Amino acid sequence: MSDCLFCKIARGEIPCRKVYEDGEVVAFHDINPAAPVHFMLVPKLHLASLAEAEDDHVSLLGRMLVLAPKLAREQGLENGFRTVINTGKGGGQEVFHLHIHIIGGGNIPPMVRRG
Ligand code: AMP
Ligand code: ZN
Repeated sequence: MSDCLFCKIARGEIPCRKVYEDGEVVAFHDINPAAPVHFMLVPKLHLASLAEAEDDHVSLLGRMLVLAPKLAREQGLENGFRTVINTGKGGGQEVFHLHIHIIGGGNIPPMVRRG
């Protein structure tokens, strides 16, 4: 996808504060962090959202889930972290290239407020 923001970041066409990169994924700090540590783990493959994930993507998505805690620890999140995947407009997604937010290091409130 030539005009997708995260594809451009993955190709190195837009700068980012990189956390990690391999052949399949890139991770970089969120430009507008919600907590002291907030970075995104992004597949280099353009997938608009989790709603587009299919059987072909099982190993890629599995690798991302296994990688997330390793990267979180490297970023100092020894006590845990929050992972968020916003999916579609109804899920508050703003950038339509699948990404896992990895957030922590501060006072993390309950994810959903009830009552
Ligand atoms: P989402 O709402 O899940 O689609 O999240 C999109 C995230 O991308 C937001 O947290 C933005 O702050 C972040 N973001 C937007 N542009 C950039 C950028 N150029 N570099 C890093 N993060 C970005
Ligand atoms: Zn993309």
